[in-house]
Amino acid sequence: MKVHIIGLGLIGGSFALGLKKAFPEVVISGSDSSEDHLQKALELKLIDCAAGEECMLQADVIIIAVPVDVAKKVTVEVLDKVSSGTLVFDAGSTKAGLCGAIAAHPNRRNFLAAHPIAGTEFSGPEAAVEDLFLNKTNIICEVEKTAFKLQERALEIFLKLGMRIRYMDPQAHDRHIAYVSHLSHISSFMLGKTVLQKEANEKDIFDLAGSGFASTVRLAKSSPAMWTPIFQQNKANILETLEEYIGNLNNFKNLIEKDNFKEVFLEMERTNHIKTILNGIN
Ligand code: NAD
Repeated sequence: MKVHIIGLGLIGGSFALGLKKAFPEVVISGSDSSEDHLQKALELKLIDCAAGEECMLQADVIIIAVPVDVAKKVTVEVLDKVSSGTLVFDAGSTKAGLCGAIAAHPNRRNFLAAHPIAGTEFSGPEAAVEDLFLNKTNIICEVEKTAFKLQERALEIFLKLGMRIRYMDPQAHDRHIAYVSHLSHISSFMLGKTVLQKEANEKDIFDLAGSGFASTVRLAKSSPAMWTPIFQQNKANILETLEEYIGNLNNFKNLIEKDNFKEVFLEMERTNHIKTILNGIN
């Protein structure tokens, strides 16, 4: 199997490592708009060779793992030239915009819209992790729009990487993911900002920070270059989640102001239900 990966960062690099483990005979080429990332990916042996367009078009599978603001352009450029037997899939964190942009493309059936719910707060080729996708959910959108033979090839790859598959329409994907991923990143970034603003001496932060702070603020280390276009593309859903979240923060603040600690206790006790839900997931 020949695979070409466009975008050799955390997600593209992790696909490369995972595929090499799952399919020892695979030959992986790659391309990246950053010459540094391309060189790093070669050095780290994420890819076997850097490849131009001609070589890319001979691949059985093309994986698009670039930030969502450039994903539409890159996907259309690939679909314009791809041959009928090639599977093209993406990994972008927003789906409605991309699926809409390629809906009428003559080679739409070559494309499978995917979003692996797997990641870390790190980016670039050095962040690649071999087992990143193991036991993680992969959301596939509009599967019926992908040629059946190519759906089969994609499923074989995802299952070999150890992923669970969920099917969703792009709008539902963007709505749901705004709550469980995008809002968590915003709340972590703003928690980090609030603490940074209040602590004049940064050293105090590190002296006092416990594991609770570190785990809650972990996502604030994430790449702004990746997250800004996600927030832009999923603006309407994110604004809705923020309204609800800010409402809950204000409510909690009011309870404390009014010395209603009985309700403060109950609010937290009710939210402990998250334990049951998360235990079922991990
Ligand atoms: P990353 O920053 O680690 O890697 C992105 C790579 O794409 C970089 O090497 C960058 O140089 C390259 N790139 C940018 N523009 C390009 C272009 N026009 N052509 C070729 N290469 C280009 O980011 P990542 O975390 O790997 O994210 C990649 C995609 O995966 C994004 O769409 C993101 O939404 C999605 N995703 C990310 C996570 C996560 O937690 N990081 C999880 C699931 C999905």
